[in-house]
Amino acid sequence: MKIFIDPGHGGPDPGAVGNGVTEEFVNLNVSLELARLLRDAGFDVRLYRTTSDDGVLENKNADLRNRAAQANSWGADYFISIHTNSSERPAAQGVEAYVYRLGTASERLAQSIVDSVSDELGSINRGVMQANFAVLRRTNMPAVLVELGYLTNATEALNLNSPAWQRAVADAIFQGIVNYTGYPV
Ligand SMILES: [Zn+2]
Repeated sequence: MKIFIDPGHGGPDPGAVGNGVTEEFVNLNVSLELARLLRDAGFDVRLYRTTSDDGVLENKNADLRNRAAQANSWGADYFISIHTNSSERPAAQGVEAYVYRLGTASERLAQSIVDSVSDELGSINRGVMQANFAVLRRTNMPAVLVELGYLTNATEALNLNSPAWQRAVADAIFQGIVNYTGYPV
């Protein structure tokens, strides 16, 4: 079973910044750990980037199209985009996920991931919502964009920056994927 992992942002685009923590690095660390867990369990995994910037295109829209195109051309079974959130409200916190259409396999996978993260890490479960994001719209397979937590929330920023928490959330995402897909055989 092929899983394409998209660590959000990178290259010229650091993503959100809050409480001194930068999104692209959180996304990358969690994605690398998630890839390791999935490979150990027998999944076939590709990452869009494995450093801050390798392969990331300068033009943001072209880069987003490229992320989806790579997953499509590889024939991925599932597409998982890892992001970290920000808000004008410092109190905003919790895990949420986005899919292109509700009532689909994408939504069921997203719910499984969000529920696992909330159960394992104690994060507030903000549920699964619809969004017209390019990586979700342009991918041909079930696709989920997870927002792990809010960098603009002081407590969550500490967690998101912690290697131990990053490993724990990767494990929770992994469990959410396995709960939905089963282990590959
Ligand atoms: Zn992001």
